[in-house]
Amino acid sequence: MRRIGIMGGTFDPIHFGHLVTAEKVQEAFSLNEVVFVPSGNPPHKKNRLVTKAVHRLAMVKLAVENHPGFSVSSVEIEREGYSYALDTVDEFHRIYGADTALFFITGADAILETWHKADELMAKCEFIAATRPGYHFDEEHVLPVAYQDRVHVFRETALAISSSQIRRLLGDGADVSKMIPQSVNNYIKTHGLYEKESHD
Ligand code: ATP
Ligand code: MG
Repeated sequence: MRRIGIMGGTFDPIHFGHLVTAEKVQEAFSLNEVVFVPSGNPPHKKNRLVTKAVHRLAMVKLAVENHPGFSVSSVEIEREGYSYALDTVDEFHRIYGADTALFFITGADAILETWHKADELMAKCEFIAATRPGYHFDEEHVLPVAYQDRVHVFRETALAISSSQIRRLLGDGADVSKMIPQSVNNYIKTHGLYEKESHD
């Protein structure tokens, strides 16, 4: 049976924290492929201007090109209105076949969010929650018992990198070349992204 990981996120911008987590999870859970799915208009980030989807998608494409077993999907960007994880999981089952095992990969912060139609979602895919520096995760206390066998906690030491930190550093004109692939850094410079007060 094919095993596919879905790595959803805003990716504003994508960074080594995302990429290294995806690599380690892919290996640990024997996933045939990890598909990065940049969000369109994320419901939980209403209050912040998110960089245009075309740029976020372009940066994810640059970051995963030439990486075997990684790919990108624009299903959420192409969808009208808000996307929920459940919509994306249903779409992946249509694309890859109903018998494909789907694993939704999230950081420990994201697993603690409220998921739309959580029962249905957990029935259709398993979750891999990667611990992340700065976010405490204690599965016995934070996950409903019904979901505990559908959520795998991945306790590898993750890189302490976040997109918000990168945006802040770039706004101050600082160097972020150790946190993101060079191709992504070049793209950011070419398009003048994350310069102060700019969220294009
Ligand atoms: P922001 O700071 O804007 O929230 P972010 O770095 O959290 O950005 P997102 O696009 O929000 O990036 O994250 C996409 C997914 O990747 C989420 O599930 C998030 O928990 C996870 N993630 C982000 N950074 C890391 C990291 N350093 N280690 C492990 N998982 C991460
Ligand atoms: Mg985040």
